[in-house]
Amino acid sequence: MSQIADNISNIRQEITKTCMKLGKKTEEVHLIAVTKTIEPERINEAIACGITDIGENKVQEVINKYDLVSPVNWHMIGHLQTNKVKYIIDKVKLIHSLDRISLAEEIQKRAERINRSIDVLIQVNIGQEETKSGIEPESVHNFIEALQTFSHIRVKGLMTVAPYEEDPEKVRIYFKAMREIFEKIRAKKLSGIEMKYLSMGMTNDYKVAIEEGANMIRIGTAIFGSRIYR
Ligand SMILES: *Cc1c(COP(=O)(O)O)cnc(C)c1O
Repeated sequence: MSQIADNISNIRQEITKTCMKLGKKTEEVHLIAVTKTIEPERINEAIACGITDIGENKVQEVINKYDLVSPVNWHMIGHLQTNKVKYIIDKVKLIHSLDRISLAEEIQKRAERINRSIDVLIQVNIGQEETKSGIEPESVHNFIEALQTFSHIRVKGLMTVAPYEEDPEKVRIYFKAMREIFEKIRAKKLSGIEMKYLSMGMTNDYKVAIEEGANMIRIGTAIFGSRIYR
């Protein structure tokens, strides 16, 4: 087996094990392979191993690779500049990083032009880190309410990048806090707002994230190995 196939198989086993412990179905957890800096040939190798969803954090990488990668669902998981929405609006299945009204306005405008509704997750800065984007935890509710007036944007859940800790147990509190916000908003049953996906957990902390309720995990390094930035 190739390294990528081997890695994916190991991750799937870990997901299954974690889900079994929780009495959850494995299919409830959606695996997104994070392909930033990874060349199309290796992405296609992952797709051949059954990967159906890939995540990129830069618009330029989506554009460069789009025609070279086998049919797959593309996810925008990184900070999205307003002036670049137009390049990806017809390419991505889900935008995980909606974090400001000005971006929502641009997504709305571009979505109207192609006559499509766009699914988004709200990015939450759960660790309240200066260096990270995302809505502050206490502002998520108001932000989502404001999005109800956007006819071409469908809110499907929340996303976060937890603070990095070598020991994943240390980020459990952040995932718990995300779950609380997620459930609270879900309980409000806001019209047009669906709390379906909770996107959290990466190579280092995905098991803890699943334990705390993540149903979408974004994994790069554990699939493709360490990234080489050029
Ligand atoms: C890079 C990245 C990931 C994947 O990180 P790994 O630690 O390589 O698994 C997940 N989410 C976002 C937003 C990223 O930028």
